Amino acid sequence: MKKVMFYAPKDIRVEESEIPIPGQGEIVIKNKVSLTCGTDVKIYMRGYRWDPPFSFGHEASGVVYAVGENVEKFKVGDRVVAHNSVPCHECYYCKKAQHSLCENPIFNKGAFTEYQLIPERIVRQNTFLIPAEMSFKQAALLEPFSCAVYGASEVPIELGDTVAVNGCGPIGLMFVRLCHLRGARVIACDKSPERLEMAKKLGAAHTVNISEAEDQAQAVRELTEKKRGVDVAIEAVGLSKVWSIALNMVRAGGTVLCFGGTPKGETVEVDTTLLHYSQITMKGVFHTTPRHVNAAFELLKMGAIREEDFVNNEYPIERIEEAILEHSRGKVIKNCIVYK
Ligand SMILES: [Zn+2]
Ligand SMILES: [Zn+2]
Repeated sequence: MKKVMFYAPKDIRVEESEIPIPGQGEIVIKNKVSLTCGTDVKIYMRGYRWDPPFSFGHEASGVVYAVGENVEKFKVGDRVVAHNSVPCHECYYCKKAQHSLCENPIFNKGAFTEYQLIPERIVRQNTFLIPAEMSFKQAALLEPFSCAVYGASEVPIELGDTVAVNGCGPIGLMFVRLCHLRGARVIACDKSPERLEMAKKLGAAHTVNISEAEDQAQAVRELTEKKRGVDVAIEAVGLSKVWSIALNMVRAGGTVLCFGGTPKGETVEVDTTLLHYSQITMKGVFHTTPRHVNAAFELLKMGAIREEDFVNNEYPIERIEEAILEHSRGKVIKNCIVYK
């Protein structure tokens, strides 16, 4: 079988390897589709917190190819989607119900592969049967969407609030959709006209093209009553510069959601007077939790977001690099690797 390995920034390789054999409680999925993600682009460009080489990609869905001993939930031929991670449910943070901070999580790497081994803990807790009416592409949106669902539920959004979403990549667009569904007036900011167009389609009331706006924070403030700023500003880019901009566009008492992971070692300067006297909350949120993976799967069933809005061009696994590079240029939302 073929799989994609990451060796170094701008060095990913399609390699031949053996089809994995499932052990106790494990399954092997024959993938039908894998999706490119902003995180894949970041890893491709600048590496990640794991030491290379490692298997690349983390969003896929397919059909059960083999099951290990004691697997009762799934059988060969089932259409399934496995989330890429699972917490331990035993550590300090899990007991505090902060599962994304788990000290012993499993991250199942390597979704750009023809056959993928799913660890026992993920099989038990975070693998789902895909309903007949749901496509593989729709199901493969589970991982990124569960992150957006977690992020959106960690900020206070009330009916009639105004929310600015900074960055309209796949995750940003999911935030646009979720905030719109929660009854907020959404202001979407990005430099790609294509992505801003999609933001509108998904429910954004206003768009700000940041390459035309002199001052992004001010441009957003202009769209609020008395220019007081938005109730919630979401950062979905992963640049500390944008974290600062987001801080300057919320109203007093507002919340900034710092969702995009920045390069290691970056810092943000914060106006302490602003933070204190304006009672602003800056909140970091990372990844997701099993509760929000469940919620995301239910929302996918309801069609809260649709694959046709998020998944653009199809590539064979051999052309993974092209798929990633096209994603990085912002002309598509996500690309898709399809397997025979
Ligand atoms: Zn834990
Ligand atoms: Zn992802």
